[in-house]
Amino acid sequence: MMFDYDAVVVGSGPAGSSFARLAADRLRLAVIDKQGLAGVRPKPCGGLLSPDAQRFLARSGLTLPKEVLVTPQIFAVKTIDLSLDSPRYYQRSYLNMDRARFDGWLRSLIPDSVQRIQARCTGIKRRDGGFELSFTNNGRADSITAKYLIGADGAGSIVRRTFFKEQGIRTYVAIQRWYRHDRIEPFYSCVFDRSSSDCCSWSISKDGYMLYGGAFGPKGCRESFERQLESAGKRWFRFLEQCREEACLVYRPARLSEIVSGRDGVILLGEAGGFISPSSLEGISWAMRSSELASRAFSEADPVAGYRRLAGGLKFELGLKLAKSVFMYTPFLRRIIMESKIGSLKNINTNDERI
Ligand SMILES: Cc1cc2nc3c(=O)[nH]c(=O)nc-3n(C[C@H](O)[C@H](O)[C@H](O)COP(=O)(O)OP(=O)(O)OC[C@H]3O[C@@H](n4cnc5c(N)ncnc54)[C@H](O)[C@@H]3O)c2cc1C
Repeated sequence: MMFDYDAVVVGSGPAGSSFARLAADRLRLAVIDKQGLAGVRPKPCGGLLSPDAQRFLARSGLTLPKEVLVTPQIFAVKTIDLSLDSPRYYQRSYLNMDRARFDGWLRSLIPDSVQRIQARCTGIKRRDGGFELSFTNNGRADSITAKYLIGADGAGSIVRRTFFKEQGIRTYVAIQRWYRHDRIEPFYSCVFDRSSSDCCSWSISKDGYMLYGGAFGPKGCRESFERQLESAGKRWFRFLEQCREEACLVYRPARLSEIVSGRDGVILLGEAGGFISPSSLEGISWAMRSSELASRAFSEADPVAGYRRLAGGLKFELGLKLAKSVFMYTPFLRRIIMESKIGSLKNINTNDERI
C-alpha cells in the first residue's frame, strides 16, 4: 500500500516540532496539532528552560530569539516547605520564557517540506501495515495514512491511550493561577506541602505577573489547590488581583515501566512517552532529547527498535530522577536535607521577613 506519508506526528510541542525539524530531510512527514483551533488554549507551563534544554539547543546550533524571554531572569530557587520555618535557596540556571512564544518559535523552524495540519486528531487505527488518522478542523473531518505513527501529543496522549492503554502512567492535574505582581524583588519558588499534594508547586514572576501553580492528585484537585493557596498565603506569598487560571494533565512517571518508547510502528516522544522528570516536572528538555533520538533512529532499518535502544539512556537518567524523588518527597528526608543546608546558597540577602 502507498501511504500518504512515511510518518505522521501528532502534536507539535517541543517534542513534535523538534522531531519534524530534525527528520524532515529523510521522511515525508505530516504534523497534526490542534493549537490555534477555536477553544484550544495554549499549554499551561512554568516556562523555565533548563540547562539540559539549553544544551540541546546548543547542540542543534540554535540561538534563542530574545522575544521568547520574559522579565526577570532569576538565578536561585527559593525552596519552601510549608511545614518548616526557613526556606532554602539553591542556585539554578533556568531561562525564564513565554512558553507559547517558545513553542511558536520551535514550530517556525519546521521546514516547508513538512505538511502541517491544524486539526484535532480524533481517532487512529491500523490499516494495511500502517495507520489511518482521523482529524477534525472546526467541524470538517478528514483522514490521512502513514507508515509510522509518532505520538508527541503530551499528557493525555490519544496515541498512548489508543495503543498502550495497558501501560498506565501516574497522572496529576496541574493548576496555575496568574496574579498581578507587586513585589519589588520577584522570586522563583518551589513549594512542598504534604497536606495538599505529594508532588510540588511553584511560583514564577513573568512580565508583571506572578503565577502560582502546582500538581495535584486528580481527586479533589481544586480543593487541594485552594487549601494550599490559603496556607501559602499566610506566610510566604501575597496574592493580589487574580488575572487568569489554567489547568491541564501532567504525567509524572512513578516507575520505569510507565515510560514507553513504542512498538509495532508507533513511537512515543516527550511527555506522551513519560519522558518528564518525576522530581521537578521539567519536561521540555526530555521532549526535545527524545525527539533527537527518534530522528536518529530513522536512519536504521527498524526505527522503532532503534529508538527503543537509544532511549534506554534517557530511561536510565529518569531512573536516577526517580531515586532523587525519594529524597525530595519523603518529608523527613527533605527536612534533613533542608536543615543541613547542603548545596544551598549561604549568607543570602533576602526580604523573606517582609512578605
Ligand atoms: C503547569 C505545568 C508547568 C510546567 N513547567 C515546566 C517548566 O517550567 N519547564 C519545563 O521544562 N517543563 C515544564 N512542564 C512540563 C512540560 O511542559 C512538558 O513536559 C512538555 O511540554 C512536553 O512537551 P511535549 O512536546 O512532549 O508535549 P506538549 O508540550 O504537551 O505538546 C503536545 C502538543 O500536542 C498537541 N495535541 C495534543 N493532543 C492532540 C490531538 N488530539 N490532536 C492534535 N494535537 C494534539 C497539543 O496541542 C500540543 O501542542 C510543565 C508542565 C505543566 C503541566
